[in-house]
Amino acid sequence: MSRPRVRDDLALVEGYHSPQVSVDVRLNTNESPIAPPAAFTEQFTAAVATIEWHRYPDRSASALRAKLASHYGVRAEQVFVANGSNEVLQCLLLAYGGTGRRAAVFEPTYALHSHIARVVGTEVVVGQRTEQFDLDLDVVREVITANQPEVVFLCSPNNPTGVVDPPETVRTVLDLTRDYGGLVIVDEAYGQFTPTSAVSLIDEHEALVVSRTFSKTWSLAALRLGYCIGPSWLIASLEDVALPYHLDAVKQLAGTIALDFRKEMDERVSFLVEERGRLATALADLPVSVWPSGANFVLFRPENRAGAEVWQELVDRSVLVRNCASWPGLDGCLRVTVGTRRENEAFLTALADVLRASSVLGSASRSPVPGKESA
Ligand SMILES: *Cc1c(COP(=O)(O)O)cnc(C)c1O
Repeated sequence: MSRPRVRDDLALVEGYHSPQVSVDVRLNTNESPIAPPAAFTEQFTAAVATIEWHRYPDRSASALRAKLASHYGVRAEQVFVANGSNEVLQCLLLAYGGTGRRAAVFEPTYALHSHIARVVGTEVVVGQRTEQFDLDLDVVREVITANQPEVVFLCSPNNPTGVVDPPETVRTVLDLTRDYGGLVIVDEAYGQFTPTSAVSLIDEHEALVVSRTFSKTWSLAALRLGYCIGPSWLIASLEDVALPYHLDAVKQLAGTIALDFRKEMDERVSFLVEERGRLATALADLPVSVWPSGANFVLFRPENRAGAEVWQELVDRSVLVRNCASWPGLDGCLRVTVGTRRENEAFLTALADVLRASSVLGSASRSPVPGKESA
């Protein structure tokens, strides 16, 4: 038999990998370390018993959309929901990307933006961030005016760097794309961990959409539920490309109930922001470079050791962080998710241990510096 070949352009696309290693302390995928409130689980379990399993779910997910809309002070027609914000992004690219079209990304950023773009046949154009991972508006202007991409991705706070774009950045990008009719997507998967958001710029007359998720702040990564907010004409176009009844009844119920627990969600976010501060302060005392983060993770680079080795030695101590060491533009970097107090302490202890072990080895192999001993 001759096997069917996948599309030629897919042969060049690399899969998305995030190793799931079995360890005690898992700080690699930016999940919430805290389960949702028990009252949520109870209400949700009771609600599942009311589902009419022989019927298709509400195709327009009206209850969930209406509740998200009131949460953000927009109309239900301005909200689209899907199976994780990755599916939201896929729908956006199905509608506005595709063959013969371009999407712009500014690296290093979330790998799924370019990955999903390529999977749906979109050409990806890349601009580089500065050494500090900020957006250089001259580079942004250059990439957009030279390529006129149908889709421009921003990500704030950016993954995996944690960098937050100032609000003027989105306005500048909108000014650039407005002329030729490009769509600006701001991925705010970590939006609740920082005070700035592009949601306030949403307008029926702007080609701007903001995506968010229940995976990180709402402690519901297992649920696979995400959404975006944008002008109603754009939301309508997403409904055309989504599969019929794409969002099941269980998910619609869970999301609707979760939104009643806003206070608990806010408390979790405040706790994690506080722990993020503690983590950053403690890292500053170790021989690593640290970048300020507006998300629930911190990017750092060991100064005197290869990142990949440090990653392995942390795994040996049953601590898993994200190994970004070989990612373009992130040489030697590791990313740690903010966990519980206990997890963060375990991480810091393990990291200090790894780096101490290497500095002892390092000084043993170095020839003594004259006069240093007495200093
Ligand atoms: C985690 C993450 C998402 C997430 O996804 P879900 O599909 O909603 O779990 C989207 N964007 C960024 C930047 C992320 O880090």
